[in-house]
Order: sequence, then C-alpha cells, then structure tokens
Amino acid sequence: MLFVVSGPSGCGKSTLIKKVRRSLGDLGFSVSHTTRPPRPSEKDGVDYHFVPEKTFERMVREERFVEHARVHGHLYGTSRAEVERKGRRGDVVLDIDVQGARQVRSRLPGAVLIFVMPPVAGELRRRLERRQEDNPEAVERRLRNARAEIRAYDEFDFVVVNDDLARAAADLKAVIVASRHKADAMAEGLKPVLRSFKKGRP
Ligand code: ADP
Ligand code: 5GP
Repeated sequence: MLFVVSGPSGCGKSTLIKKVRRSLGDLGFSVSHTTRPPRPSEKDGVDYHFVPEKTFERMVREERFVEHARVHGHLYGTSRAEVERKGRRGDVVLDIDVQGARQVRSRLPGAVLIFVMPPVAGELRRRLERRQEDNPEAVERRLRNARAEIRAYDEFDFVVVNDDLARAAADLKAVIVASRHKADAMAEGLKPVLRSFKKGRP
C-alpha cells in the first residue's frame, strides 16, 4: 500500500513519520528528489536526494517521477524507481505537499491520503522558528503557503491533528493499521486461508 502524508511545513510530518516507522518497523520511506539546498542536519540519500535543477528537469522529461511540484520556490518529486524499490519490501510512505498528493490520487487511486493538521496557526510559527533550519524569509513563505494548504484537508481520506506528539503518532499509526485491514487490502494475504477451506471439511 502507498500512504501519502501531507500538511503545511512545520506541522510535524517528518517527526510523526519517523515515530510511526520506528513503531511499525515494516513501512518504507520514499526519499524524494529536491533542488532545495540541504539543511545543516540533513543527509543526502537519507532525507532527500539533493540534485541540481538541470538533473531534476531531465528526470521530469524522462518521466521518472510519480509526481512532482514546485513547493516554497524549490522543486520536489517522488521518483518511480524509489517507490518501486521501497515497495518491494512492503508498504511505502510519502511525505509530500498537497499538489503532489493530488497527483498521486489521480495516478494511483488506491493510495491512502493522510493530512496532518497543526493545532493552531501560532504553534506552526513556533515550530518553524524553533526548528531553526530555515531562514526568516523561508519561514514567512512557508507560513503564507500554509493558509492555502490547510484548506485542502477535506480532499484527504484521514486527518491527524498534531497537538500532543505521542497521541498524534498513535493516531497516525491507527490510520495505517486500519487501512491495512480493509477487506480489499487483506485479499492477497487471505488467499491461503480461503484455499484451506476448499479442501473439504475443516
Ligand atoms: P514537517 O516535516 O511537517 O515540516 P517537522 O517534523 O520537521 O515538520 O516538525 C517541525 C518542528 O516541530 C520540529 O522541530 C519538531 O521537533 C517539532 N514538532 C513536531 N511535532 C510536534 C508536537 N506535536 N509538539 C511540539 N513540537 C513538535
Ligand atoms: P521541506 O523543504 O520542509 O523538507 O519540504 C517542503 C514541502 O515539500 C513539504 O510540504 C514536503 O512535504 C514537500 N515535499 C517533500 N518531498 C516532496 C515530493 O517529492 N513531492 C512533493 N510534491 N512535495 C514534497
């Protein structure tokens, strides 16, 4: 299954995804490509594949992205190869913006879309400022964009409000576990059970 996590910058998407992945253990993370310069704490190949614009544009021309978008002035995209590679071992989670989530919805209708909502506008600013990874201009730009982004929440299948971190992580995990238990998602795994009932009397 493919899980898409979206929400305004600073709402806590990457923190929540890391927590849930530690707890579930079988959820691959799709490392996006971006033209944004790395933050001090970020590692190439772990947080993102950091690439020059020319490389990104070539990848777009070669149709190597499942989705891509310009976000806060930089290019970001999910490569098909990444989703395929991580998907071989199980489910995959994407941390992408609302424009990307819409593209995934239209191209891969089975994907589960989850929106992470900050508890209140002031808290989003505090988190972006406390993170100390973006310059003041970038913080203002992200806050301006947040106004439009949060209005898209009702295009998603689920919403998680990230006020208390532990509770929000438990909610995100619950959404993922419940989605995995939908009847159509269970069909493949249930085949041996169904076969066993065909063999005569139980
Ligand atoms: P995003 O990936 O959505 O841009 P991050 O996961 O980087 O956001 O979180 C932004 C900042 O907010 C980080 O410093 C993170 O530690 C902090 N944060 C995340 N969730 C919470 C929370 N529930 N309460 C307080 N701080 C949080
Ligand atoms: P940041 O620069 O804070 O890491 O990410 C900025 C925004 O870009 C976030 O909303 C994040 O979810 C989004 N983003 C990260 N990777 C991708 C991607 O591959 N595609 C799209 N569309 N958005 C992405």
